[in-house]
Amino acid sequence: MTQVLDRIRASLIGLRMPKALESLDHMMRCLERGEISALEAIDGLLAQEHGNREGRRVTMGMKTSRLVPIKTIEGFDFSFQPSLDRERILALAQLDFIERAQVVHLLGPPGTGKSHLATALGVEAVRAGKRVYRATLAEVVDMLSRAERDGRLPERLRFFARNSLLIVDEIGYLPITPGGANLFFQLVNQRYEKGAMILTSNRGFAEWGEVFGDPVVATALLDRLLHHAVVVQIEGASYRLRAHADLIPEHTRSHASITPPPLQKRRGRPPKHRSFDLQIG
Ligand code: ADP
Ligand code: MG
Repeated sequence: MTQVLDRIRASLIGLRMPKALESLDHMMRCLERGEISALEAIDGLLAQEHGNREGRRVTMGMKTSRLVPIKTIEGFDFSFQPSLDRERILALAQLDFIERAQVVHLLGPPGTGKSHLATALGVEAVRAGKRVYRATLAEVVDMLSRAERDGRLPERLRFFARNSLLIVDEIGYLPITPGGANLFFQLVNQRYEKGAMILTSNRGFAEWGEVFGDPVVATALLDRLLHHAVVVQIEGASYRLRAHADLIPEHTRSHASITPPPLQKRRGRPPKHRSFDLQIG
């Protein structure tokens, strides 16, 4: 018996299964007391190890995907955002859109949970074993510009292509130069019908010409980004400002207005939130 146990220990060490090794003694005691069967003991040991590895894989995945700070669907208060169809978000969390290489647009004013939901969908994808990368549009354009300058643009584009889900956050907060828009177009064109994307924006599609500093490129971008697209429009109040509800005028509080309250002028972001002209689905 002791010999067998020693062999099991040696095997678990050789197989690098520290969690199973850790719970071996406990499992043996349960087994001896007749609390569990041999089959349950094996199951327990393997489940410990597997659970631990999965946890580590997901934690690592969240970091390399840049999904930290982590947001979850469970952590999203749908009652705060009544204009948002909960079932639709839960359907997206099933991740079929990734298989179909679709584009999901999350649109709405600041603080309505666009980044939260984009990250939460990314977290679901990492849990499901998908490769995900999240960055703001400004970061993506910066990465592409640097790569182009260093003569490594194809390599950088391949890096993005390796991810089955690319999340591009904050389209519309900072204007993009025509050169940057061109690079972003190359990225979008390369992913078109091949890789899924989630895009978040506080601006309507009609304003993309302004955002990308070039109406021709903006039209070409939208042509690809609206084909096979899912558009989710959030028309609610800012979650960030909920604690200051008393400072927000009554009419904006009760009507989930798209116009942000006056105290939105923070951190120097341009307060441009006009109506959304184009709506799909
Ligand atoms: P946006 O990207 O639309 O400007 P965020 O997703 O960054 O807004 O949301 C701002 C903050 O409020 C984040 O910390 C986010 O987790 C939180 N938040 C927003 N909406 C909700 C919600 N409905 N339930 C829970 N937390 C929310
Ligand atoms: Mg955001």
